[in-house]
Amino acid sequence: MKVTEEEIRPEKVFNEYLELTAIDTVTFFSNADSFEISCPSCGSSDSKVWVKKSLFTYKSCPSCYTIYVSPRPVIESFNAYYTDSPSTKFWATTFYKITEAARREKLWKPKAEMIKQRILKFGEGVPVEYIIDIGGGYGVFDEEIKAIMDIKAIVIEPSVHLAQICRDKGLEVLEKFMEEILADELPAGRKCYVSFELFEHLHDPARFLQTVFNCMNKGDMFIFTTLSGMGVDIQLLGEHAKALSPPHHLNFLNPKSVTAILEKNGFEVLEAITPGKLDVDILKKNKEYINDIFWKNVLDYLNESELSGLQDFIASSGLSSHMMISCIKP
Ligand SMILES: [Zn+2]
Repeated sequence: MKVTEEEIRPEKVFNEYLELTAIDTVTFFSNADSFEISCPSCGSSDSKVWVKKSLFTYKSCPSCYTIYVSPRPVIESFNAYYTDSPSTKFWATTFYKITEAARREKLWKPKAEMIKQRILKFGEGVPVEYIIDIGGGYGVFDEEIKAIMDIKAIVIEPSVHLAQICRDKGLEVLEKFMEEILADELPAGRKCYVSFELFEHLHDPARFLQTVFNCMNKGDMFIFTTLSGMGVDIQLLGEHAKALSPPHHLNFLNPKSVTAILEKNGFEVLEAITPGKLDVDILKKNKEYINDIFWKNVLDYLNESELSGLQDFIASSGLSSHMMISCIKP
């Protein structure tokens, strides 16, 4: 199914969101204390400034190509921002409402199908009884996966507003941050933890992974999606890449560096792929910002069907900016 960026991120509404974000960034972060961090994947402190965007600096690690925000404002500033700011409210209400139907069809249904396939592929032996959806938001994924397989879903969602929406849909909810969950609050039985588009927001990715790992039992799975800094659109568009959106997106690992940090924290990685579909669409729309002559020409030279082949190549080479990682607690 062809997905265009316009359907899931309508330009006019998305730009309004970005304008609100720019104002919030000044409100919540211009006076925030911040501190230098080393590469969140490999720990290297040799990273160089990659791009600056609004008040934030993205660095790129020369060892593992992870892109990340450093200096990093203290967590209190992020908590204040996420709890009560005009742009997060706009995202959760206006933006989401306008795009919900398209997102359900074009993003969540295919995602539920992909997760189902992975549970069947990697979950051999003991059947998986529960989906634990970390930061489940509106619970759309959970509705969709329950529709296509025999599985129970529990949503972990700290926002009062979103948790209520999930309950109204008949979903079981733990209204907490993942970091506050105790292992005995979750039922026994084999589980597959999932989190979607959350990892890039995390203030401390290693701490998050340790929390998830400690909650898991041997044989439980963890499947998540996040942005890859080796994605062709991010690499070519630099500061003009909309995915580089502080204060939201702080960490852009890549299939190799995310595998490394997971293994360091005890997980066994089964697969790290980039099944993205939007890269070429995004590049075409932002051609004016591409400096590389080859890529500029390629986007004009290839016809629609060849561009679709190029997108498939980008995805299968691990060079799309959207990645999905499946791992297990061994
Ligand atoms: Zn690194």
